[in-house]
Amino acid sequence: MKYDYLIVGAGLFGSIFAHEATKRGKKVIVIDKRPHIAGNIYTEKIEDIQVHKYGAHIFHTSNKKVWDYINQFTEFNNYINSPIAVYKNEIYNLPFNMNTFSKMWNIKTPQEAKNEIAKQIANLNITSPKNLEEQALSLVGKDVYEKLIKGYTEKQWGRNCNELPAFIIKRLPLRFTYDNNYFNARYQGIPIGGYTSIIEKMLTGIEVILNTDYFDFIKQNPDISNKIVFTGGIDEFFKYKFGYLQYRTVKFETEVLDTENYQGNAVVNYTEREIPYTRIIEHKHFEFGTQLKTVISKEYSMEWEPGIEPYYPVNDEANTSLYEKYKKLAEENKNIIFGGRLGNYKYYDMDKVIEVALEAVSKEFD
Ligand code: FAD
Ligand code: UDP
Repeated sequence: MKYDYLIVGAGLFGSIFAHEATKRGKKVIVIDKRPHIAGNIYTEKIEDIQVHKYGAHIFHTSNKKVWDYINQFTEFNNYINSPIAVYKNEIYNLPFNMNTFSKMWNIKTPQEAKNEIAKQIANLNITSPKNLEEQALSLVGKDVYEKLIKGYTEKQWGRNCNELPAFIIKRLPLRFTYDNNYFNARYQGIPIGGYTSIIEKMLTGIEVILNTDYFDFIKQNPDISNKIVFTGGIDEFFKYKFGYLQYRTVKFETEVLDTENYQGNAVVNYTEREIPYTRIIEHKHFEFGTQLKTVISKEYSMEWEPGIEPYYPVNDEANTSLYEKYKKLAEENKNIIFGGRLGNYKYYDMDKVIEVALEAVSKEFD
């Protein structure tokens, strides 16, 4: 046994675990099947702009411990996410707030907005929302649901809104103030110098092998470590023995444009069903960039199939109960720690990944 831990995945979860284990004198090796570290938070410079290669990543948390932890590895700028939604020729502010409602209904006060929403849902009799559609309708009424939620959500998840869990839409703040901050979190920003440099710092002095798939590697090195930390798909680990968990994936179409400012905002969502992409990211605006060129990425959401990268777990009822079966099996393997978005099959944001990674570390070492 050469190493204490083989860590599969150089994303946020794997890198925190690797860093903390090394700090405690353990010998670790990290492998990743991709040609780079950092997993989905990977950023790289194009035209001197930090490009989020796997979709827009805005760091936000209300957890002071998580915020202090990540600030050891980077400094954050003061970017506040305020996406714009485009529906046909209309432009709205997100998340759903008084700017959205006043544009939608030509009203001014919170009471007028509440009255309008109440009027729009009066006949629906939704008492406890059973799915995303009912949840959205009961929160914001019919107009906002139909223009800003229905099309976007169906593109994003490839499923009808009445087949999706309500919690997905509850991620977004709903406010009766004129406040376009997309998050309620106490701390928010973009790491100066990009996300990849955070992971580089975490992995300093640690052996990392890229372009290496676990399933090939372990065949050739069956006794490489005492324990394994696995941050890939839990269903893949068990060779899909109970069947495939479902994921959504995203195709990114990135272009360099010879213009200084393409859309005036980092994130613009296209909420109508007919436009094939969900959003366009203009990366320079995350860092208030003043370069002469710009880089944009269109995001196309698609159903995952074997052989492509899974991104979003589909946490509906069927998948959740299938995951429970894998989780039970995982619990029988005391020498393998499953973690991260794919290992835990959870729609985690970065702050949550840090939280669960630190929990895994303290369970292992304290
Ligand atoms: P990952 O980053 O997926 O890392 C897992 C690693 O394991 C990958 O590098 C993968 O290549 C490797 N791996 C998998 N299987 C194998 C194998 N068999 N062999 C070897 N290596 C393997 N969070 C936020 O907080 N704010 C946001 O704005 C935000 N936006 C997002 C936008 C998109 C489009 C997506 C997809 C996610 C977003 N997230 C956001 C979530 C964020 O990306 C995750 O919380 C975080 O990256 C998860 O880290 P992880 O280590 O669990 O997984
Ligand atoms: N959503 C929507 N319209 C929008 C933006 C978001 O209906 O313009 C819904 C959609 O269902 C999405 C969910 O809100 O999946 C959560 O949005 P978020 O921006 O948190 O998604 P993510 O960052 O995970 O892509």
